[in-house]
Amino acid sequence: MSSTPHASADRSTLGVAVEAVRRASAACVSVQHRLAAGDAITKGDDSPVTAADFAAQAVVCATLVEALGTGIELVGEEDSSDLTDPDHAELLATVQDITSTGLGRSVAADDVVRWIDVGASDGTTDRYWTLDPIDGTKGFLRGDQFAVALALIDEGQVVLGVLGCPNLPTPDGGVGAIFAADAHGTVSHGLPSDTTIDQPIRVASPATVAESRFCESVESGHSDHSQSQQIADLLGITSDPYRIDSQCKYAAVARGDASIYLRLPTRADYVEKIWDHAAGKFVVERAGGTVSDVEGRPLDFSHGARLSANRGVVATSGAFHDQVIDAVTRVLNA
Ligand code: AMP
Ligand code: MG
Repeated sequence: MSSTPHASADRSTLGVAVEAVRRASAACVSVQHRLAAGDAITKGDDSPVTAADFAAQAVVCATLVEALGTGIELVGEEDSSDLTDPDHAELLATVQDITSTGLGRSVAADDVVRWIDVGASDGTTDRYWTLDPIDGTKGFLRGDQFAVALALIDEGQVVLGVLGCPNLPTPDGGVGAIFAADAHGTVSHGLPSDTTIDQPIRVASPATVAESRFCESVESGHSDHSQSQQIADLLGITSDPYRIDSQCKYAAVARGDASIYLRLPTRADYVEKIWDHAAGKFVVERAGGTVSDVEGRPLDFSHGARLSANRGVVATSGAFHDQVIDAVTRVLNA
C-alpha cells in the first residue's frame, strides 16, 4: 500500500540515477533493431538475455560508481559469468561496444566485466540499489516496449525510483520518457534529450472503478490473462486491456494512461524479483497511486533479491484499491 518514504535520497543522488538510466536507455535503443531473437542467450531460469542487457547494467553501474564511489551495493539482474566464458568472446565484444556507446567513451572489456559485477550484491545490507537493466527483454527483442529500472532501497523502503521507457509514446506526440520518483513526487523527463524537465505527473481519477482501464503483461506466462478478464468483468470494466511489456505498465498507471495494473501469479512457485517492481512501485506511489500484492499486503523489500513475502502485484490509481483487491480475491479464490 502507499507509504510515506522512510528515508529520503538527496536530489543529487536522484540526478545521478536519472543520468545513469538516460545513458543506458540510449545505448539499448541504439541496438534494439539490430539485435534479433537469435542474439539472445538463454539463462538458467529460461529467460532471454542479450548483449544490451549486460551493457545497460555496465553503463548504470559505471555511472553510479564514478559519481558515488565504489562503496555502493547493487542487486542487478545480470552477472558476468556467461560473458567470461571463452565461448562467448564475441558476445563480450558486442557488450563492450554498446557500453562504450552508452558512456560516450571507449572502454576496456575488463572494466565492463568489473562494472557488471558491481551488481552482485544480495540485498541484505541496509541500503542498496536494485537494477533491471532491460526489463521486458522479450518486448525488447520484439521491437516493442522495455524499461531500464533503477531504485534505491533503505531499510526495506524504496526511497528513489527511475524508469527509462525509451519507446513509450509521450502526450506531446514524441517517443521516450524517463520517470523519476523521490519524496517530492514523480516527474517525467524527455528521453533521449531532456526537453521536459521536472514535469510532475499524477495518476488518473476515474469517477467509478468501471471507467478504469487496466494494463497487464503482453506475456500470458507472466500474468494470468483469463483471470484478469474475470476481475474486469466483476468490476464492470468494459474497455480492452492495455497490454504492454515491462515496468512501462507502472509508468502507464502513474501518468494516467491506465488506472489498474494486474500481475496475477501463473505458477504457485514463482516469486517476484525486486528489480521487476521497486522502481515502478515508487513511481506509481509518488504519483498518488497505491501498490500492494494480490492480497493487499505492501511489497516487502527486506528479504534480499526476491519479494518472498508477497504474491503477484496490484497497482492502482488509489481510490478503488480495496475494491480491486476484493475482486482479485474473489477470482483467485474461486
Ligand atoms: P512483463 O514485461 O510484465 O512480461 O515482465 C517481465 C518480467 O517478468 C521479467 O523481467 C521476468 O523477471 C518476469 N517473469 C519471468 N517469469 C515470470 C513468471 N512466471 N511470473 C511473473 N513474472 C515473470
Ligand atoms: Mg525484468
